[in-house]
Amino acid sequence: MAEVKEKMMSYCGLCGRVYPSGGDDAAKCCTCGVCGLPLDKKVDFFTTHKACQAKCEAEAEVQMFAKAEKLEEWGGYVFLEDDHYFSSVEELAEYIYNDLEPEAPWPKWAVCCLEEDFPKLDLGEVLEGLAENHGVEDFGASDIDVDPEVYKALEAAVDAFNANVKERGNHSFHPDYHKVVRMPARPMDAQS
Ligand SMILES: [Zn+2]
Ligand SMILES: [Zn+2]
Repeated sequence: MAEVKEKMMSYCGLCGRVYPSGGDDAAKCCTCGVCGLPLDKKVDFFTTHKACQAKCEAEAEVQMFAKAEKLEEWGGYVFLEDDHYFSSVEELAEYIYNDLEPEAPWPKWAVCCLEEDFPKLDLGEVLEGLAENHGVEDFGASDIDVDPEVYKALEAAVDAFNANVKERGNHSFHPDYHKVVRMPARPMDAQS
């Protein structure tokens, strides 16, 4: 007969999840990590109330803004949430003006963007990816059987592509939350 080992367990009264006794894990289960009150599994996130999470994010934004350098002018790109990049605050203002409900608050500041070189097309990486998809174990880019002349031409084409992308001034952007620039005032006169 097998030895029976008994272990004390506790479980969460809300979701029924079992935890080892001794800690307060079961008591913490289904409670909000921010305010400590019970969660409603139907509407809340897994570990926080939706409202508590939103409050935290808003506070983080306020703190970030408090620390940010506030510029009156900025010659580069600016950023608006949801991955929208604009070449100037004026362009951003025009976009918001056309997109926002008339009663929505008008933003006072925009986040400045850092410019980076556009990523390069990496032939080695592309071919490695191609070889991986080939499905044969240990099949690498160098195992692809291709005429050396064709490979050379491909290499030259990739180099020309990268050079041209750079030459034409393509850039990547990402928001620099350390800098914000003042937005132009809401264009009230254009409302009619
Ligand atoms: Zn629970
Ligand atoms: Zn909460």
